[in-house]
Amino acid sequence: MRKKDHRIQDLISTIIAYAVISAPIVILVVVMAFSCFEKVKNTVTFHSPFEKKVYYTVDDEFYHVSKDCPALKDSDRVYSAYKGELKEKTPCEQCSEKN
Ligand SMILES: [Zn+2]
Repeated sequence: MRKKDHRIQDLISTIIAYAVISAPIVILVVVMAFSCFEKVKNTVTFHSPFEKKVYYTVDDEFYHVSKDCPALKDSDRVYSAYKGELKEKTPCEQCSEKN
């Protein structure tokens, strides 16, 4: 009887040891898989490859379809973003009509 108890105790401590060793690895894999999934979800759901990028400056209320728009000539910093991200900006009159 005592021998059997000892064996069960051995088994339990072995399981605990394995759990302690593998837990951080499992957590790391789960976190990595989750962040990967989030990244893929963000790119696929919100920005399809067919979605057009537009150009804008920080202090301008317009977004530009063309990077070569004359209105952007005086701006030293032009950023690009997906149209859906710039909901507060309106299309520029100079380049929106051509496209
Ligand atoms: Zn423009």
